[in-house]
Amino acid sequence: MGEQAKTPVTSPAFYPLGSAESRAAARAMREWKHSTSKRVEFISCIPDGRDDDRIQFGPWQERRDGTLSRYTYVPHVWVKIPVDDVPSCPDCGAAYEQTKESGGMMGFQPSCVAQHDPDNRGRSSKANA
Ligand SMILES: [Zn+2]
Repeated sequence: MGEQAKTPVTSPAFYPLGSAESRAAARAMREWKHSTSKRVEFISCIPDGRDDDRIQFGPWQERRDGTLSRYTYVPHVWVKIPVDDVPSCPDCGAAYEQTKESGGMMGFQPSCVAQHDPDNRGRSSKANA
């Protein structure tokens, strides 16, 4: 694929301060910056007591070195073998994937994480790889 543009196509400096155009340009610049920053994603399967059966994405946060990081919670559930009911995503209904077997239990995790990523929403389905 071709290289990404090195500079944003717009800048708040082009518009009167405080105008809607200026704000829109500032937002575009911020998004452009975010889209080109190095990203670090921390994936956790440790429930925090809130909506523990749902995939959750934290906001991207800029760190001092300019990288963006966020925490993503991906539920991991254990089901007793034999598995009668494969757990499924409460949001889209997709069946979870098996992860590993341990002590008579089978682990399951959702396979639809990317689908629920707010970063992928409203965008053309361009692979992020
Ligand atoms: Zn889902």
